[in-house]
This record gives sequence, C-alpha cells and structure tokens, in this order.
Amino acid sequence: MSKFFYNVAINIPLRQAFTYHLNYEIPLGRRVEVKFGSTKKVGIVIEQLINSEIDTKPIQKVLDDISVFSVSELKILKWASDYYFHPIGEVLNSFLPTNLRQIKNNLDFAEIEENEITYFKRVKFENKLNAQQLKAFRFLKLLKGFKPVLLYGVTGSGKTEVYLRCVQENLLKNRSILVLAPEISLIPQLENRFKNIFGGLVGIYHSKMTINARYKSWKKFRNGNLKVMIGTRSAVMMPAPKLGLIVIDEEHDTSYKQQDGFKFSARDIALKRAQILKIPIILGSATPSLRTLKLVDEDKFEVTKLTKRVTQKNPPKFTILDINSADMVSGLAKNSLDVISEILKKNKQVLIFINRRGFAPQFVCSYCNWKAMCSSCDSSLVFHHQVERLICHRCDSSFGIPRKCPSCSKEQLSYIGTGTEQLENTLNNYFPNIPIYRMDRDSTKKVGSLEKILSEIQSSKAGIIIGTQMLIKGHDFPNLQLVIAVDVDQGITSLNTCAVEEMGQQLIQVAGRAGRSDGQANVIVQSRYFNDQNLLQLKSGNYLNFANSLMRERKAMSQPPYYFEATINASSSNAQNNIDMLNFAKKFIDHNKCLVIGPMPAIKSKVRGSYHHHILIQANTRALLNKILSHVVNSLDEDKSKISRKARWGINVDPTEF
Ligand SMILES: [Zn+2]
Ligand SMILES: [Zn+2]
Repeated sequence: MSKFFYNVAINIPLRQAFTYHLNYEIPLGRRVEVKFGSTKKVGIVIEQLINSEIDTKPIQKVLDDISVFSVSELKILKWASDYYFHPIGEVLNSFLPTNLRQIKNNLDFAEIEENEITYFKRVKFENKLNAQQLKAFRFLKLLKGFKPVLLYGVTGSGKTEVYLRCVQENLLKNRSILVLAPEISLIPQLENRFKNIFGGLVGIYHSKMTINARYKSWKKFRNGNLKVMIGTRSAVMMPAPKLGLIVIDEEHDTSYKQQDGFKFSARDIALKRAQILKIPIILGSATPSLRTLKLVDEDKFEVTKLTKRVTQKNPPKFTILDINSADMVSGLAKNSLDVISEILKKNKQVLIFINRRGFAPQFVCSYCNWKAMCSSCDSSLVFHHQVERLICHRCDSSFGIPRKCPSCSKEQLSYIGTGTEQLENTLNNYFPNIPIYRMDRDSTKKVGSLEKILSEIQSSKAGIIIGTQMLIKGHDFPNLQLVIAVDVDQGITSLNTCAVEEMGQQLIQVAGRAGRSDGQANVIVQSRYFNDQNLLQLKSGNYLNFANSLMRERKAMSQPPYYFEATINASSSNAQNNIDMLNFAKKFIDHNKCLVIGPMPAIKSKVRGSYHHHILIQANTRALLNKILSHVVNSLDEDKSKISRKARWGINVDPTEF
C-alpha cells in the first residue's frame, strides 16, 4: 500500500514540525489528530514530503473536510515562525479559534444558512468627500498588486471616510477586506460606521468576544458570508476566500505588537500577507511610526496625505510650560489652574492627560524611607483612595493600607506623586460646580461605563475630563478647548528608546481631541525639560517635524529604524539562572558583526515572582540579524550541557518593550 508523508505542526514549544503518514492523499492546511508521545494532539498539515527517512506513525484521523488555512496562508504563517523564531505549532495555534484547538470539534459550515449570504450593490454615502479625501481615494482606488500606502491624515481629517470608499470598491469586486484596529475599545465606533453602510457584511473579531461568537465570525469570514472583518491583532490571519485589501488603522500603535508568548507584530504580518497575496495595504495614521516613515523615504511605501481637518478649524496651539520653579498642586502648575478656570468660564471643556491611574504612585514612610512594594514584583504599590487599597499595577495584587510603618512602626506614612484619582479630588475642590469625568481603567471597568461617560461629556458644556492614554485614541470631544499634559517627562527620561516616539505620538493624538469647536484650542505641556529638542519640535504641532528630527537623531546614533534589533529573553524564579543562561547564549554571537548589550534586567525585572532578563542585539541589516539569531537559536536548541535549560528563553524580534 502506498504511503503519503506529511509534516504536521503541533502546538508544543518545539521549533519543528513532525512527520506522519497516511495511506491516502489530503490537501495542506487540514487539521488532523496525531499521537504525540502518549497523548493525542491536534495538528495541522503544513507540508507534503516525497519520502521519509525516519519511521513514521500514522495520522490517526483527518478532523475536517476543509482546510483551516490555505496554502498561501500557511506560507505567511511559516514566514512568521521563521522571522520571529517561534515554534510553528504555536504560531498556527495562536491564529486558530479556540474551538478548533480541540479534537472534539469539527469545522463544518452546515449551520450557516444560504439566505445569510448577502450580495452587495453600490451604496450612496451620506458624507461628501472633500478635495483632499477625494484625491486620496482616487489614488488608493487605482492600486494594483502589493502596494503598501501610508495614509497620513492629521487628526480629524476623515481617514475613515476614505477607508469606507476603498472597502466599497473591493466589495463590488466580491473581495473580502480586513480592517485592523490596535485596541478593542476602538472597535465599536469603527463597527458602527462600517455597519451603517455595509450592514450585515461586516463582522468583528477580538479577544473579549465569547469563544462561540469568535468562532462564528471566523467561519463566516472564512466562508465568505462576512466580507468586511474588523478586528484586533488576533484577527490578522483570519482566513478569507478572496482577500482584496488590508487596512491597518493607527498603524503606529505599539498595541499591534504582542508582548508575551508569540511576540509578533500584527502590522508586520499584515504587510507580509499583502505581499504574498499581491494585494494593496493601507496604513493609516496621524502619527506614523518612524519605521513606516523610513520606508516612505526609501520609496518602498507610497504615501497620500490628508493635511486639513474636515471641520476646517485651526489645529491646536502648543505651549511648553517650564515647571522647574512652579507652584504645583497635585501635579498641576498654578498657571495651568488659572488657564483651566478661564476656559471653564467660557463654558468650554478641559482635558487633563495623565498616564497614571490611582491616587498616588507611591506610598512611603517619611521617617525611615520605607516604600510599599509588591511582594511578588519589583514595583511600588499604587495608593488607590476610592477602594482604600494599595495595588500593584503589574500583577493586580492588592494589599490593605498599614496604619503604622511596617519597618519602623512610626505613624508617618504618606503618599508621593499624583494619579488620576487625586487630580479628580483636587479639581473637585477647586471647581465644585463643574462636572469632572475620570476616564481610566478603574472608572471604566463596568460594561457600558465608558460609553456612559463619553455620552455625558458629549452633552455637557463646561467640564473637566481627566484620563490616561485610553482617552487619546479615537474619541472626539466637540466642546474641548484646552488640553494639559502633566507627565510627559516620563517619556523624555525613559530608558526605552521607543518612549520618545510614543510620547510625541501621544501628545499629537491627545491634542487632536481638541479644537473641533469654535475658537483657538490650546495644548499646555508641563515639563521640567522645557529645552528638550524633541519637545521643542512638537511645539509646532506638526508631527512630521518632530518625527523627521527624531529620525535624524536615530540615524546618527545607529538606532532603529536604521538598525535592526532583537532581544534574547530569559525568565525563571532565580535571577542568577537567567544571567547564566544568557551569558551562555552570548557565546554563540559573533561580537565583531553586531552590538551586544547585557545580560541586563528587563525594565519590568520581576513580575509575579518571576525574574526577567535579556540581552539586546543590534545589527545593521535585517539579514545579518536573522543570521545571528538563527545561529544562537540552533546552538541553544542543540545544547547538550543543559545550561540553556536553566531558564525559559525566547526571542523578541523588533522589541518595543525592554
Ligand atoms: Zn518607617
Ligand atoms: Zn505585583
């Protein structure tokens, strides 16, 4: 009897596929049941072999009548496994709906009824495009084949209207469209706008949906019943019969990068997918990433610009406020308070951007300098006044508030610094008759609470909005006339090279929430580093000025995007084991070819009792970085001395957190 040999990817942390056989032929991408050791596992057939030199076990069962991934989708996933040095089985598994990770479920489309299939006819749009939008749309409409395009549109310039037109063009050709958003909180508004026009053809996919709802969405998109899929990074590999366009909204957002397990960037996988499928891909942003701007400079990406706001209002004016010798009240300079009071008198709204939730970031003893720290992380506990707890923002553990210092028993405990809760309290005292809206993870925990706060802000006149970075994305506040950023200095002084870029993006984005009403809107940036070059560039309010200056700096200092980076990460319950393991890994790196830094503790060096260390590798070409990593990974995989097993290790390519 003839045998057919297949390489099968299994969800285990090994960087290889396993060969099995079957006495009949099946297409690639099929889910199968195989014996692995003594257990049964789900595998996905990724390759057919002509022969096998090793003895193979039979595939126990072919689970479905159709493939979960097409041949080209498998090609992209294999690329991702190689690029990120992550086990192929785990890569495939991470893009499979939960139901299909189990043997007991079968993929069948029988439950989708024929009458659910809708056919698309051209629709009329309510909003007319302005001249710039029309120009951008006409440019995008003509794209053929693999063409990444940066749609650079200042905040409020109406990028979504342009996306909608491009989506319609693809629907008319019966093609599917994938729209990615960086965060779940941005999905509802996109979903609304798309559903208003394309109705039942639009579906969503993200991790807060139920397992079954996600599975249904996945199947319908795979089957072509849903044509437009809006999702977060986990949606980037959703199979589609005829994908015609990918849109990455807010392409600069670091949320596109997964920070644990399989550390992929959905932006980069989407680009690869578009390249392999030879389709256009639109990257939209008011604050494009330096990586994207570099590719535009090199003519590898096209660019089309929306430089005018739809409302035709002036962009907000930036002021840098030196707070070195200012009188401060809960993180706000007295000057800022005066300006707030003027704006409120005009019946307008003020937004205060502070990236720290809770009441105060530190709880200390003023007598002996004891500081409340989490027992399982190396992070200070944040004082939360409302719930009367000290909370670790890294692991969410919470502790009672001691009356006496646990170290010296003196009753001299107090807090240091300002968080959103404290600002809310202080401003309530200053402006007792003004509504104050706090938007952070604590105040928006309950389902529907964010929507409630947003609608209250929309319908009120004078008011103060206090919020963390969650409020800078996507939301519009028509009556907002003043934005105050209180803690940008964290970004300026951070050890993380991505922090400055992110600080600039956040400031421009938060400023973009203002100035959609009458009158000149203002942005006040409080800083102790008022002469900082990057801050001064931002003063123009023009993101590209800031980005270009930062790019020149990066180029001169041989930093990304001009250099290519990866980290080798180690984690274990013993810091020394991490260091031993990483020093061992370092032996396999040719130091003449690249820069190697470390081993050093991660910025979050201890989380939930586990220590994290890494070494950073910088190389001047992508190919060289790949070669170096490949050698290290192979050497560690083959390590017989077992030093590499002292800690869990992994690779992070293009890291954004260190
Ligand atoms: Zn003390
Ligand atoms: Zn903790």
